[in-house]
Amino acid sequence: MGGGVLRRISVVLGFVLVVAAAAAGVWRYGYFQALDQMARQGEADLALASDRLTGQLQRYRELAVLVADHPQVQAALAGGSGSGAEHLFLDIADKTAAQDILLTTPNGGILAQARSGVAPIDIGPLVSRAAQGALGWGNGRTGQGTRIFAFAAPVFDARSEIRGAIVVTADLAGIEWDWVGSNPAVFFTDATDRVFITNRSEIVFWQRREDGPGLAPADGTRVPFDSYRLGRHEVWQMGWGPYLPQNALHLVRPLPVIGMTGEALVDVAPARRLATLQAAAVAGLCLAFGALLFLATERRRTLAQANAQLEARVAERTAALSDTNARLTREAEEREEAQRALAQAQADLVQAGKLSALGQMSAGLSHELNQPLMAIQSYAENGVQFLGRGKTDRAGDNLSRISDLARRMGRIIKNLRAFARQESEPVVRVDVVAVLASAIELTMPRIRQAEVALYYDAPGTPIFVRGGEVRLGQVFVNLISNAVDAMAAQDTRHLSIAIRAGTGITVTFRDSGPGIDSPDKVFDPFYSTKDVGETEGMGLGLSISYGIVQSFGGEIKGRNANDGGALFSVELQRWDSMAEAAE
Ligand code: ADP
Repeated sequence: MGGGVLRRISVVLGFVLVVAAAAAGVWRYGYFQALDQMARQGEADLALASDRLTGQLQRYRELAVLVADHPQVQAALAGGSGSGAEHLFLDIADKTAAQDILLTTPNGGILAQARSGVAPIDIGPLVSRAAQGALGWGNGRTGQGTRIFAFAAPVFDARSEIRGAIVVTADLAGIEWDWVGSNPAVFFTDATDRVFITNRSEIVFWQRREDGPGLAPADGTRVPFDSYRLGRHEVWQMGWGPYLPQNALHLVRPLPVIGMTGEALVDVAPARRLATLQAAAVAGLCLAFGALLFLATERRRTLAQANAQLEARVAERTAALSDTNARLTREAEEREEAQRALAQAQADLVQAGKLSALGQMSAGLSHELNQPLMAIQSYAENGVQFLGRGKTDRAGDNLSRISDLARRMGRIIKNLRAFARQESEPVVRVDVVAVLASAIELTMPRIRQAEVALYYDAPGTPIFVRGGEVRLGQVFVNLISNAVDAMAAQDTRHLSIAIRAGTGITVTFRDSGPGIDSPDKVFDPFYSTKDVGETEGMGLGLSISYGIVQSFGGEIKGRNANDGGALFSVELQRWDSMAEAAE
């Protein structure tokens, strides 16, 4: 997680750096472009200003040439004195706004002058050029500080010989006045590299620096200045007052016609603003795009993370579920196995219980079978004697008694066989009256042997319940045997059996024995108060009976009756049409 945050921060920082670099590139390119355009515009402006200046000065040049041809000038030269020309010069000077007009000898001696006095500037070099037949020109300052531009034209006589020169001077302040302050800042430097004409008065007479580009005041005052080049452009950085730009493009245009160099300082602030605007726009766009991209990837990352978490949880849950499933299946199998084992154990127990009951009943039963057998024997022997004496009717009598006894024995054996049979079908329709009759018959030998009085009023019609014939019979046999056992030491021995019909069918067994020692324990397996061996009690009879009745959906209960004896009841479900329909 921490690594991810660091990685993202470094990605964002890297992106910002790239955007900054791109913005710087855009700024530089935009600045170049703007400077190019600015330079073109500035060059046009400078050309215009230069043409204007040369155009203005041209007038004075032409004036000098014209005046040189004037007849009065020729006359004055012929006469050897300038007198007479002064008036003409003054008149022309006033009309043309020339500062002064002079007539000189080829050596520079003044013959006539419009505004009499001394020459405003040193005209020697100009006149000497005129003396060679060329046009002389130059600039300079008067004693009062007025800046002057002067032209000198040769004066020829009739034989085309140079006899003198006309010098016309112009006051530059008069030329400058109508473009002072206009943009861009323009200045013209003369041959001595000083600013002579400009539309910014603060830099008049500033001198070009010796150590490179730039200007400095002539009196040596230090002013801030620096410069750098951008491609073919030269940019000046200066703090020269409010009327000159802080950063300016420096443009140059040579003006050989008047022996000067025109220069312009174009403010680069607009170019910088434009470049900054372009760079900001590009950076803004990139940043916005980057932010969108970042948000999108963040969103995708978050989604992917949530997805992974979800999948992990699902996988976890699935694993847990399949674990649980496997465990449940295993448990179900184990339970089924246990149930099978239990059913088997119960079946085994039932069978064991029956064997035990048979053991208990064996004495009575053998007596019960022995007695008719003995009787059959005697009836048969007597019958043989009756036949010998020819008393066939008595012999027939004996035979029918033998037949009765044999039938009785057959019934006992049939009951025994039925009791011993292992019953496998679950719950069927059973006539509780018949089952009870069979159980009583099976236990009759013991009842009689123990001299127990049995009270039972058998219902005349069958009563159908849900159960199994053999197992239900086993329960009844068990209850009757227990009652007989309990009353062995009693003086009065009564066993009352009854069938009552309510919501279900209840069969009750009530004896006149001593009652149950611990009624809440009698149904526990292996609980017995009888001595082992005496009646071969194992303490299983009631617990087996409990299981059997419960498997029929019924209930077996045991308690002590009010008069002391034990009272056991077996409650069974009726086999009615409803149940039949449900089966
Ligand atoms: P067993 O007969 O082998 O002892 P049973 O489960 O049939 O096993 O009976 C358990 C115990 O319940 C008996 O030992 C006896 O103490 C008590 N019992 C059962 N029937 C009666 C009864 N009719 N009167 C008194 N006690 C009884």
